[in-house]
Amino acid sequence: MNFEFTKEEKEFQEEVCEFIKKESTPEMLKETEDQGEIFGGPEGRKIIKKIAAKGWLTPTWPKEYGGLDASEVVSYMIREEMGYNGLPFGFVAAHMSGPTIIRFGSEEMKKAWLPRISSGEVEFALGYTEPQAGSDLSALKLRAEDKGDHFLLNGNKLFNTSCHIADYHWLAVRTDFDVPKPYKGISMMIVDLKSPGITISPLITMAGWRTNEVVYEDVRVPKENLVGEVNKGFYYLMAALDFERMFPLGIFRRLFDEIVAYAKETIIDGKPLSKKPLIRQKLAQLSIEIEVTRLLYYQLAHILDKGGIPNYQSSMEKTFATELTQRITNVGMDILGLYGQLKEDSKWAQLKGKVERYYLTSVVQTIVAGTSEIQRNIIAQRGLGLPR
Ligand SMILES: Cc1cc2nc3c(=O)[nH]c(=O)nc-3n(C[C@H](O)[C@H](O)[C@H](O)COP(=O)(O)OP(=O)(O)OC[C@H]3O[C@@H](n4cnc5c(N)ncnc54)[C@H](O)[C@@H]3O)c2cc1C
Repeated sequence: MNFEFTKEEKEFQEEVCEFIKKESTPEMLKETEDQGEIFGGPEGRKIIKKIAAKGWLTPTWPKEYGGLDASEVVSYMIREEMGYNGLPFGFVAAHMSGPTIIRFGSEEMKKAWLPRISSGEVEFALGYTEPQAGSDLSALKLRAEDKGDHFLLNGNKLFNTSCHIADYHWLAVRTDFDVPKPYKGISMMIVDLKSPGITISPLITMAGWRTNEVVYEDVRVPKENLVGEVNKGFYYLMAALDFERMFPLGIFRRLFDEIVAYAKETIIDGKPLSKKPLIRQKLAQLSIEIEVTRLLYYQLAHILDKGGIPNYQSSMEKTFATELTQRITNVGMDILGLYGQLKEDSKWAQLKGKVERYYLTSVVQTIVAGTSEIQRNIIAQRGLGLPR
């Protein structure tokens, strides 16, 4: 087994990196930071359209839908470079909904949506969580009534990030309230976020970026926007979650590299920080864990390349990677000391205040897309075969 990239792959990685550096603007980098690394703002859209034109937004998709028919490892390399170099790396339409449509959508739906997604023209927002349904999504209640040629939607969603900048809602709704097993009454649909009757209100996270509460009041959704079959939405949602749980570490790997450079360059008591045994131990430990994350991601890529959908393996990678983001930022705080708590606008801030910002951002990583407790339940049940 070869864990190295081939010469061609390395050249490709270099090309992606150069392209991103050339096309990135300070405005785009600032917008990405302010938005919490999600995609949909005006600056992000400009660069993503250029990346998409090269087929790099959806490289694994079939050519007819705007992909390159490339392997998941190629996709991983691109996503890593994007995150590492400050581009948005959370794409709902390209990385979660699109692959689900490819597997479960009708031919009409594929033709209608996949080219628009792969060209970077549209972005979706994830619409799963409700006030009473988070870890247990089968409890969701947003009602979609069948009105003949359309569905009529009423209900509330909570923590739906991106709704204020995305174009469409990738929405889980209840189409049957009477089934004995609640998950069998859920359907998925794509909803235009500008539809009359939708109200989007901000919820600001401790890291400063925005998520949303979304209220639906008598919102009409055309029948053709139903994904797959009615009442089968829970299966599609679960598959989309497996894709969402593939977590490239790029942005935090960049922070780690910057912390290592800081330890080398910063002199305290006449010696560089990098000579202190405790700091060396901590950094070396993190480098092991970053490598482990990379290998866990390769495993997901391998499963996908063989035609499968990674399941408990995604939960493993997501848990390890997102908990690692917290270990990286904790070590950053330890090494920078009180400087670590300063925001970018302080004249004493080090590393442009990144440690403070990423420290706060890393908290949410072990909550979104299913908490670490839920991931461990999945690993115990589906990976180890333990009872529910
Ligand atoms: C900033 C932010 C952005 C988000 N963005 C989105 C988004 O874009 N779209 C979207 O749909 N959702 C989004 N979410 C929602 C997120 O997916 C949920 O918050 C998460 O799944 C947990 O659900 P909950 O908040 O209802 O907590 P709960 O489900 O109430 O859980 C509370 C606690 O109980 C634990 N727990 C629950 N059940 C079990 C169990 N069976 N075993 C062990 N422990 C358990 C949990 O681990 C957690 O610690 C976002 C959340 C946040 C905070």
